[in-house]
Amino acid sequence: MSVNVLLDPSDPNLRSWVAGANDPEGDFPIQNLPYGTVDGAVAVRIGDKALCLRDVLDAGLFVKKLASAEEFQYAVDVAWLNGVAELEPEQQKMLRQNLAYMLAEGSPARAKLERLLLDANEPAEEIPFVIGDYTDFYASLHHATNVGSMFRPTNPLLPNWKHVPIGYHGRSSSIVPSGSGVTRPHGQTVANDDGPPSWGPSKLLDYELEVGFFVGRRNEPGTRIDVRDAWSHIFGFVLVNDWSARDIQKWEYQPLGPFLAKNFGTSISNWVVTREALEPFRVPGPPRSAEDPRPLPYLDDPDGVNLDINLEVLIQSARMREQGIAPTVVSRGSFRDMFWTPAQMLAHHASGGCNMEIGDMLASGTVSGPTKESRGCLLERTWRGSEPITLGDGTERKFLQDGDEVIMRGYCRKPGYPRIGFGECRGIVLPARA
Ligand code: CA
Repeated sequence: MSVNVLLDPSDPNLRSWVAGANDPEGDFPIQNLPYGTVDGAVAVRIGDKALCLRDVLDAGLFVKKLASAEEFQYAVDVAWLNGVAELEPEQQKMLRQNLAYMLAEGSPARAKLERLLLDANEPAEEIPFVIGDYTDFYASLHHATNVGSMFRPTNPLLPNWKHVPIGYHGRSSSIVPSGSGVTRPHGQTVANDDGPPSWGPSKLLDYELEVGFFVGRRNEPGTRIDVRDAWSHIFGFVLVNDWSARDIQKWEYQPLGPFLAKNFGTSISNWVVTREALEPFRVPGPPRSAEDPRPLPYLDDPDGVNLDINLEVLIQSARMREQGIAPTVVSRGSFRDMFWTPAQMLAHHASGGCNMEIGDMLASGTVSGPTKESRGCLLERTWRGSEPITLGDGTERKFLQDGDEVIMRGYCRKPGYPRIGFGECRGIVLPARA
């Protein structure tokens, strides 16, 4: 068959025959087609359903050959998305076009595909990528200014902040899929700034609302990624909850940055929304003022791109779950407010010659906007606990309590285009172990 039978999934008028795919409030229309894993196999999400790529290949339903047979067989046989991300960009594009063709209304393959559709696994049992390395940035000016002003009221931003995307190396082993419980960590905490410390469960457990992205193209050790090419090195995006123990963090973070305050758990959403699916929601970035310094040339991207992703955080306590009380929205913001763009974060990470590998995850740091409601963690939202928030069961929160479930949602929306969503990133706080 010729290539012209394939369909461009970014066509806003395309509709699917799959249940739930045409729901205007749904996250997964045919224009999205995010990838994940279902029962240990690479899958694509559409509406309420998922489709394992290996099943489609085995049934001989791809209309246009993808890569070489061996390459594509390898990509779908790998239990994680690393194999799909290794396909050449043209092949990835063709894979999406194939899927759009099969899943669109009027597809001649519908009857055969209907037998292969699975209920989308919520929650997933495993993370979608083998994540070799995880790096967390600190790219929101509002977040950095808010947190800085709590600790250094007269000098909230350090002199480097507007010149260098600040980050630290996170821990990939403790990244967990949405729906996993996260155990309240033990650690050293102090009553006074100078100690002495005691050791026990964290009393100031927090979430951090972030957007993460996966590297889809590697660079050789000693080479850089040009900031103008960096966008094309990104495979796709997820929601991230960087759980943070503020009392442990306060004592340990100087001089080398966060360590045990952050490495006990990081939750990510199940479905990786591809860079292609987010193209319609690119917005100019970053929002720099006339007084802000020009980025150094290696970070200066004249086509700088942010993404207009609406983000929400909700909390549901154990009592709210028992009594059927809906989760309380505690934060609403947008990823478009970030000072450093994903391309700048990636280009900076590789700028010293660090080789980025397929499946590495980079996260943005807490996404906070200019308003109180758009602050992306409880530390800021309650201003270190001085302005508690009230949940739907009438109880107050300065920080998280055992049994609290944190639910993050993200979606893109604009007139004339279907909503592109991320699904949810959920996690329940489990009591500290004895
Ligand atoms: Ca963080």
